[in-house]
Amino acid sequence: MKLEALGWSPQRQEAFAAYASEGLLPGRVVGEHRTHFQVATGFAEVSATITARHRKEAAQRSDLPGVGDFVAVRLSPDDGNATIETVLPRTTAMVRKAAGEQRPQLVAANIDVIFIVTALDRDFNLQRLERYLALVRDSGAQPVIVANKSDLPHDAASTTNQIAMIAPEVPVHAISARGARGIAELERYFDGNRTIVLVGSSGVGKSTMTNQLLGRDAQATQDVRAHDSRGRHTTTHRQLFIRPQGGAIIDTPGMRGLEQWIETASIDPLVEELEVLALSCKFRNCRHDTEPGCAVRAAIASGELDAARVLPLLRGAR
Ligand code: GDP
Ligand code: ZN
Repeated sequence: MKLEALGWSPQRQEAFAAYASEGLLPGRVVGEHRTHFQVATGFAEVSATITARHRKEAAQRSDLPGVGDFVAVRLSPDDGNATIETVLPRTTAMVRKAAGEQRPQLVAANIDVIFIVTALDRDFNLQRLERYLALVRDSGAQPVIVANKSDLPHDAASTTNQIAMIAPEVPVHAISARGARGIAELERYFDGNRTIVLVGSSGVGKSTMTNQLLGRDAQATQDVRAHDSRGRHTTTHRQLFIRPQGGAIIDTPGMRGLEQWIETASIDPLVEELEVLALSCKFRNCRHDTEPGCAVRAAIASGELDAARVLPLLRGAR
């Protein structure tokens, strides 16, 4: 895959130039897992961790890599491990910052357009739409409202009026993802290999839309998820899909955190700190027990983490 298909641009090449001379490779974070990142480079996809130095220098969680980030990676010739050495400057960033919480979290980086997906059935909720619009405005990306399920009975004029009242400048598309009606109108937002993120409540049809826009079944839709014995766990990872037709999509079944935040909630800061530390454990399936190169154990040993508070949490997780 060419770097351009990943959304690489001359400006990014310029930002990356200094790292090329250090033997690093350019790439884009396409997957974010609890313990590692998936990075697409120009020719392969690798699993990468972050360096301890990178983790320590990050003033806040949102300084760490996230889906959509352009990065410089080092491939180790001895063990094939990859580490993200640097996150290149972001053009846009969608950040979740709950009230009263000090630590902003990155939802997705370098997004050009955000589809705020809502359903034209009884789920339609103007207040929620307003909260999504506020989140999108802060990100720097272009908002587009997609009103899905136009095949269901609804009062089109009233909905359109309500949307126009709170967001007169935002384009609105009424579509039916299941009937593939109106999907073609959305193609132009991908022009120039742009990156689009889909946000919206669970059940509005984001996975159905993602599959339509990708031209393949990449995401399990809710009908399928309901019958999945592993439940929602299979879709909690954030993923960026490169489209063969150009452009990229980030779907948000994995952004449950975002949904919770939109509905107001918060995360235990200690749990979050552990998650961040675990990103630089040597092994990605580290149980923070006796494994070598465990960043969590190292932080307990150095007193950076309070053993009395952390050990019960770790035991609970195992
Ligand atoms: P997500 O949770 O936002 O990813 O939503 P899904 O894509 O899983 O869709 C939730 C449910 O809505 C599924 O049962 C879909 O089949 C259904 N759905 C999606 N798009 C449409 C549509 O355009 N019309 C109707 N009637 N149902 C739809
Ligand atoms: Zn560990």
